[in-house]
Amino acid sequence: MESAQIHPFLSLFCKELSFHLESVSARQKTIDPSEFAELVSTATKEILEAYLDGSLDLQEYYSNSLDGYKEIAIQSIDSFSQSNITIGKINDYQSTLLGCPDTQKYIDFSSINEKMCDLQSHLNDEVTRANKMIQKLNNQVHELEITTTLDPLTKAFNRHALQKHFTEILARDRLTHEMFVLMVDIDNFKTINDRYGHIAGDKVLIFASKLLKKALRDGDRLYRFGGEEFVVLLNRTDLEGAKLVGERLLSLCRQNKPLFQNEQIAVTLSVGLTPIRDDDTIDSLIHRSDVALYRAKKAGKDRLEMEI
Ligand code: GH3
Ligand code: MG
Ligand code: MG
Repeated sequence: MESAQIHPFLSLFCKELSFHLESVSARQKTIDPSEFAELVSTATKEILEAYLDGSLDLQEYYSNSLDGYKEIAIQSIDSFSQSNITIGKINDYQSTLLGCPDTQKYIDFSSINEKMCDLQSHLNDEVTRANKMIQKLNNQVHELEITTTLDPLTKAFNRHALQKHFTEILARDRLTHEMFVLMVDIDNFKTINDRYGHIAGDKVLIFASKLLKKALRDGDRLYRFGGEEFVVLLNRTDLEGAKLVGERLLSLCRQNKPLFQNEQIAVTLSVGLTPIRDDDTIDSLIHRSDVALYRAKKAGKDRLEMEI
């Protein structure tokens, strides 16, 4: 490189530096929260989404940590990646300049390097700090899943809640009114996953949960029991009423097909119905409703069977 070319080259270098500093501060303000959410685990994303759309009352729970965490994570991850790019560019400039006569007389490369290393080590500290916060948040998410008693995907009660609610109900010596349990299982769910993909499968789970919730009365409860299995607690009804609810769930599911990429997915359910008895334990109750469900599957699916 000729000495005459060094000046424009240096000014380009300075522009690059100032552009970097500006863009880092601008991006920190504009990065989208959902973009940020992608950076952390799925569970965290779901909890964050629930928090953002207000379906979980997390405001109080996270009053101190979430905003601070978000701020640090966004800033540090973003700055770190930007800064890495810039350091790469600066190294390129440096090797070009080092090839020129007299350059080293005028440019103190070791100071520039030292400053950039300082900057990167500062950012490194921030990333470490953000990672610690992510770890802390993940622990909180785990705790939260237990304390909120909700399944993050379907927003139905989780298994932990089922255990708690049913223990309370069965602890009474005598039931004050009739109650029933429906064990609901999505038919051929593995085929849905295989054919349309796991994301479509998750959408079907959300669809089923919404449909079941809509069809139930206020005192009834919906739990996600496992993968594609739900448990419904029917409160204050008789056998005829319980059967009607079960049949209604089946026909609602046949009539409403969730859309995935413009294709309607046909979903059917199988349902096992059983009454709650005074001498039941959770295990005996689940066992009877499972027996009924198994019978519905054996008889061709998309139907309700009972075990009294
Ligand atoms: P059946 O009609 O006899 O009930 O058959 P099935 O295919 O519905 O039942 P199977 O037990 O063979 O398969 C259930 C599948 O559900 C397997 C598992 O990968 C999938 N699954 C479990 N949890 C989830 C989830 O959270 N999301 C998705 N997309 N799939 C899940
Ligand atoms: Mg199934
Ligand atoms: Mg199943």
